Amino acid sequence: MNRILIVEDNKTLAKLLAKKIKTALDFEVDIAYQLSEAKLFLHKYKYFVTLLDINLPDAPNGEVVDYVLSKGQPAIVLSGNIDKDFRKKILQKNIIDYVNKGGVGDINYTINIIRRLQQNQNHKVLVVDDSMVFRKTMERLLKNLFYKVYTVAHGEEAIGMLATHPDISLMITDYNMPVMNGLELVNEVRKEHNKSDLCIIALSSNEDEDINALFLKQGANDYINKPFSKEEFSCRVNNSIEALENIQTVTNHANRDFLTGLYNRRYFFKSMDEYINEEDGLHEQFAVGMLDIDNFKKINDTYGHDFGDKVIVHLADVLMSSTNYRDIVSRFGGEEFCIVLKNINRFSAVEIFDRLRKDVESSVIYTDKKEAIQFTVSIGVALYSEDGLEEVINQADMMLYNAKNAGKNQVLI
Ligand code: GH3
Ligand code: MG
Ligand code: MG
Repeated sequence: MNRILIVEDNKTLAKLLAKKIKTALDFEVDIAYQLSEAKLFLHKYKYFVTLLDINLPDAPNGEVVDYVLSKGQPAIVLSGNIDKDFRKKILQKNIIDYVNKGGVGDINYTINIIRRLQQNQNHKVLVVDDSMVFRKTMERLLKNLFYKVYTVAHGEEAIGMLATHPDISLMITDYNMPVMNGLELVNEVRKEHNKSDLCIIALSSNEDEDINALFLKQGANDYINKPFSKEEFSCRVNNSIEALENIQTVTNHANRDFLTGLYNRRYFFKSMDEYINEEDGLHEQFAVGMLDIDNFKKINDTYGHDFGDKVIVHLADVLMSSTNYRDIVSRFGGEEFCIVLKNINRFSAVEIFDRLRKDVESSVIYTDKKEAIQFTVSIGVALYSEDGLEEVINQADMMLYNAKNAGKNQVLI
């Protein structure tokens, strides 16, 4: 469902919008200049979203909106009409947004809201409210914005839900609820989830201003006073999600190697620290493999530095696809990688690292001139004992050195 329908009788605007959407968002775009044409398109396709002008030659009073909604297709209204009552009347319908069409800023806003909807499909939102009416209302508004929604009636249920769905991005919680109120819930939830993995919006009534400040102090990202307008609700929810995404992007940049997207050395040590401390009680054994490309200098010298980069990226892909999701593959720098196989014995470690070595040996990369290039790697392996991580890495490094001296393209433990 990667199509967008624009229904707009102003041809210049329709074409400009279509062009912007195609270049910025990679959607197929259909344009209808009146309702009758729109009906034909809607009969034929299911749309990701439709952009609707409410003043059309054959539908001057927003009839197209009701038609599109009756077909169960999502709608954003474009309008030059800024009359407050009219706007309110249209917003009461089940539309996603009401966008003015004045200038370039409005086109950009429209592009952003479509991009937002695309992203929202990846986000889960948890609604906590003891009032069924509010739960249902919020669920409808959130689904309208393409979020995945879970609803619960009280705090205990919310905590359970967050435990089973740790990937929930946003929790919206009411204040007045039986047993555990919203503030207590936020306090409890923030012990487990910080602002870089979950955002929280609190709902409160207008009368008690102090509550809003308390919510923020307990770790809520934002609050909304009840009763709220659909537009304010949508904007605050989207803003919070956007802030979360930004935090996650920055964190990702800090933790990952730019060229390959693998964990970098810094993050490797951080995540290993957490792993070792968490597994201490379990005495899980793990293996560390230091891997280095053989004769890489020659590849660079023969085919150029850019092709060398391509080899590194290719190797990263092979390593990722040949290891388990719990294992850690990181790039320590240059053409050197460190791989941790978790919960493994000596025999299996050698088997897996040797399979990795063979996977690399048998894979092929093509140069710009379609020349097939192959390369090999050497791997030094050590098993984790109580000696500490640094010591295991040193041992693996020694084994790597020995593997190179023994003729390369081999695994030594
Ligand atoms: P050996 O088999 O003993 O490992 O020899 P080698 O040629 O692979 O190792 P050497 O350490 O002599 O050379 C590694 C080269 O890798 C030198 C350096 O210019 C190059 N290199 C380091 N980082 C990068 C990178 O990010 N991209 C590219 N293209 N080359 C890199
Ligand atoms: Mg309540
Ligand atoms: Mg090398």
